[in-house]
Amino acid sequence: MSGMVAALNLARDGFAVTVREREPHYGGSSLFDPSLHTTPLDVGATSEYLGVDLSGVFHPVSDLCLYLHDFEVKVPASMSYHVERGSRPTSIDTMLYEKCLEAGVEFQFNEPLRKEDIGGLPPGTIIACGLNRPAYDYLRVPCIDWFGWVSSGLEESEDCAWIWMDECITEYGYISFCNGLYYNLLFSAREVEPECLERYRDFMRRVRGMDYEDWEYIGGVIPLKEPDNPRLVREELIMCGTISGCMDPLMGFGISGALVSGKVAATAVAEPEKAQEEFASFTRNFASVLNFKNEVWYDLRAQVDALEAIARVLGSRRSRRLVIEALLKGRERSAIPGFGPLGCS
Ligand SMILES: Cc1cc2nc3c(=O)[nH]c(=O)nc-3n(C[C@H](O)[C@H](O)[C@H](O)COP(=O)(O)OP(=O)(O)OC[C@H]3O[C@@H](n4cnc5c(N)ncnc54)[C@H](O)[C@@H]3O)c2cc1C
Repeated sequence: MSGMVAALNLARDGFAVTVREREPHYGGSSLFDPSLHTTPLDVGATSEYLGVDLSGVFHPVSDLCLYLHDFEVKVPASMSYHVERGSRPTSIDTMLYEKCLEAGVEFQFNEPLRKEDIGGLPPGTIIACGLNRPAYDYLRVPCIDWFGWVSSGLEESEDCAWIWMDECITEYGYISFCNGLYYNLLFSAREVEPECLERYRDFMRRVRGMDYEDWEYIGGVIPLKEPDNPRLVREELIMCGTISGCMDPLMGFGISGALVSGKVAATAVAEPEKAQEEFASFTRNFASVLNFKNEVWYDLRAQVDALEAIARVLGSRRSRRLVIEALLKGRERSAIPGFGPLGCS
């Protein structure tokens, strides 16, 4: 996704651009084709920054809930959006791919980046390999593993989403419904035991009156190892998308950071200093948020029992107010559009 944003911007600036993709088609790994991703986003500001109208592929979330075990806290859904990834006509990848073709970008499929390629890549090469370990290893990008159970398929439903927290995972379970699909992912920074999946399914049956039978165990890496993970240039190559470290470390939202870093990577080809400034601006909170996550958040998250007890005492309405205040504060301070105003002007 971010690679196509970079390619499109470069082609529009008159560069000859070739995209080399490991898979036999656009839309990324078949594991995530199709998939639904939910993210806070300022669609107007991000579209303007990228030079790409995103309004047709980002769909507002109508109903968003946070669950601490079974306890429900309604979260304001405004500024949160679903986006479909993969190769269906309704995905952001299809929209970007078509725009790239119109702009004259050339695509080469079944062309994986290999370790032995690294030294011989032409100047101005952009690396946009997402969350796949090999590229992180070749380029020595510090990363941590993530693991998760995923269930997805066709389902017509109101386009709602939820986040579920429990002690058995370090991260969360989430579900999105959009474009006639559902996507349900339970993920963690450590292995997720089948018993944990059972707890999640129990929660869904009890609280939401639904269940899914087919689950697949998947995993990958994310650049959340070091406070200085965000880097625009490594080994003289331009980093783009999540591998650049342009992401939200707290909840693992990668979509908005990947999009803006695609534009930054394109800028870096001709105007490296301007690009460095913009990249530094978008990632200026990364180190402090990652430190907060490691030093405070994981300890809190490990006591969902206690959080649930507090939320029950406060009641749903006061808990909601606290969540809203925390969200607004986070968005005000955020550097990545969608969490707050664009930080690159
Ligand atoms: C299951 C899952 C759920 C997620 N949910 C959310 C969410 O709800 N909200 C959110 O904000 N973020 C979410 N994220 C994170 C977000 O989707 C990613 O951070 C973002 O899509 C990464 O975009 P990208 O452009 O960096 O990489 P991608 O869009 O993943 O593109 C990487 C491309 O590189 C190709 N590639 C990989 N290795 C090679 C190689 N060696 N050679 C050539 N090509 C290669 C891949 O095939 C792919 O086409 C989720 C991630 C996953 C995996």
